[in-house]
Amino acid sequence: MSGARDAPLQAAAPPASGRLTDPSGRRFEYLRLSLTDVCNFRCTYCLPNGYRKAAGRTPDLSSDEIVRAVTAFARLGLWKVRLTGGEPTLRAEFTEIARRVATVQGIRRVAMTTNGYRLADHAAEWRAAGVSAINVSVDSLDPARFAAITGHDRLDEVLRGVEAARIAGFDSIKLNAVLMRGVNDDELASIVAFIREHDLSLRFIEVMRTNDNAAFFKDRHVPGQAVIDALVRAGWVRLPRAPGSGPAVEFGHSHAKGRIGIIAPYAQDFCATCNRLRLSAEGKLHLCLFGDGGLDLRPLLQADAQIDELVERIVALTARKAPSHRLHEGNSGATPHLASIGG
Ligand code: SAM
Repeated sequence: MSGARDAPLQAAAPPASGRLTDPSGRRFEYLRLSLTDVCNFRCTYCLPNGYRKAAGRTPDLSSDEIVRAVTAFARLGLWKVRLTGGEPTLRAEFTEIARRVATVQGIRRVAMTTNGYRLADHAAEWRAAGVSAINVSVDSLDPARFAAITGHDRLDEVLRGVEAARIAGFDSIKLNAVLMRGVNDDELASIVAFIREHDLSLRFIEVMRTNDNAAFFKDRHVPGQAVIDALVRAGWVRLPRAPGSGPAVEFGHSHAKGRIGIIAPYAQDFCATCNRLRLSAEGKLHLCLFGDGGLDLRPLLQADAQIDELVERIVALTARKAPSHRLHEGNSGATPHLASIGG
């Protein structure tokens, strides 16, 4: 099945200003870098049967390959990198990779996304390595539901990790909750109560259809607009979008320390503000989370002397980025689940 259809490869001149753009005029500032597709959680919408190694999968990028890739993207003006997966902290050398990525010239912000299972013990170490923003997946504030969704009875541990991140001084802490009909779509009141007391952002993410979860999606997808309507009725106001920020629409309230956001990939014009590219743990460039598959950069990640060629290749490939995903047509491209590319 094919997804966002990439345009044919065109010869594209490297951008004079060190800025990477595509034919739709979108400018790319943000690289989502998957460190591994392995995950230890079994989230119902992603890896309900646990991680299984895909046939023919090549090893994860080494830290040298990662640094070369990040160096090339940074030369093209990307300044923010998010370390994701799979579960990125399963990589034994996670801290070292974070440290090296943070020192690449031009990289101003290193963020990470985690299920939080090692956060309580490692928050300070990761902050010291240069990670300044962290997203933690917390799909429910009810311990039994959290366990049912993730396969791990670890809500308390994960929330202790969030507190450790606060103490460690991360300047952005966000909780991600995948919004699911009949699973957690009745939790707005408890989430509002939590956010009143915690200076962090919780974002509901509409569940996205991937090739592996079509039946789940049909049963559980609920548009984020219902949450927005409820927030607005309760006096929450929409906040301005910060430069370089992602696709979340965020709301605040004078009585709340934190913020609540919605990521609604099925909303009209969702792709118009796309500012990100993805590199899989195998070294494949993904122009869209729901594209036709990755474009292999790994042969150009083998030596520092290849950087100029790598930069040119990234520019040429980015010119093929499609204007929009095709999720509305029920088309998830070549993506079996988000752990495979880096959600
Ligand atoms: N293991 C890390 C974690 O749990 O956050 C990072 C990888 S995970 C793929 C990144 C984010 O994607 C998580 O917030 C997860 O809930 C979300 N996600 C995974 N599959 C999804 C789907 N089908 N629809 C919406 N969000 C999804």
